[in-house]
Amino acid sequence: GEPDAPMLAVRDLSMHFRGVKALTEVSLEVPAGQIRGIVGPNGSGKTTLFNVVSGLYRPTAGRVVLDGRDVTAARPFALAHAGIARTFQNLRLFSALSVRDNVLVALDPTRASGTWRYLVLPVGVWRRDRALRREADALLDRFGLAAFADNLPTALPYGIQRRVEIARAMAARPRLLLLDEPAAGLNGDEVRQLCDIVRSIRDFGVTVVVIEHNMGMVMSLCDHVTVFAHGAIIADGPPAEVAISPEVIEAYLGE
Ligand code: ADP
Repeated sequence: GEPDAPMLAVRDLSMHFRGVKALTEVSLEVPAGQIRGIVGPNGSGKTTLFNVVSGLYRPTAGRVVLDGRDVTAARPFALAHAGIARTFQNLRLFSALSVRDNVLVALDPTRASGTWRYLVLPVGVWRRDRALRREADALLDRFGLAAFADNLPTALPYGIQRRVEIARAMAARPRLLLLDEPAAGLNGDEVRQLCDIVRSIRDFGVTVVVIEHNMGMVMSLCDHVTVFAHGAIIADGPPAEVAISPEVIEAYLGE
C-alpha cells in the first residue's frame, strides 16, 4: 500500500435499496493497527457497510479504498485476496466438516506442499496435505481450539463456534478483519476471551473493525468508535468521548 494510507477508507458511500436509504454519503477512515468499533441502533446501516466493503453489495455511490487501492465493487473473492476477511452475524460454518476442516478449506492452497497447490481440489485432498494441515493446526492452537479439532462445530458451545469462525477468517491471512456482532449470544467469560483474541489479532498486525451491541466490550476493546444512526455517522471518536455525546444518547433513547 501507499505510505500513510489508512487501511480502510470509505468515501461518500451511499447504498440505496429501492426506497430504503441504508447508507447516505458515509465517509470514514480506519488507520492500520486500529480496533474500530461500529455501533448504532438496529437498522442504522452497520451491516450494510460491511456488505459493501466486503463486496457483497455494489454501492449506489462512493468509494471503498483498501490501503490506498480503490477496491469499490470488487468481487468478494478478489477482496479476500486483497486482504479483507469477515465474519457474519449468524454463524456460517460448514456443519458437515470438522473444526480443523472448517479452517483448512479457508487456507490458501498455494501454500500446500505438493504440485497440486496450483489446482482447486476437494477438501479430501487438502486434508492429506501436510503443510496445509500443519498450518490449520497452528491456527487452531493459536485460538485455543486444538482440543476441538476433530469435532463437528454444531456439537460445540456457541462461544467455541464463534471462535472457529474467527480462526477460519484468519486462515485467509487478512490485513483487515470485519467482525459482525461477535459477542452476540456469548456469556461474560466468553466475551472476555473474545476480547483477548481480538487484541491478539491486532497485535499480530491486522486492522479490526467490529460491529457490536455490547457497549462494555466496545468501551474496553476499541481504540476508536464510529456511531451510526439512519444510515449516517452521528459521532466518531475515542469510546469514552462518544459514550457521553448528546447525539449518541438521543439516538439510543429514540430506538
Ligand atoms: P444494522 O446492521 O445497523 O442493523 P442494516 O445495514 O442491516 O442495519 O440495515 C440498514 C437498512 O437497510 C435497514 O432498513 C434494512 O432493512 C435495509 N436493508 C439492508 N439490506 C437490505 C437489502 N438487501 N434489501 C433491502 N433493504 C435492506
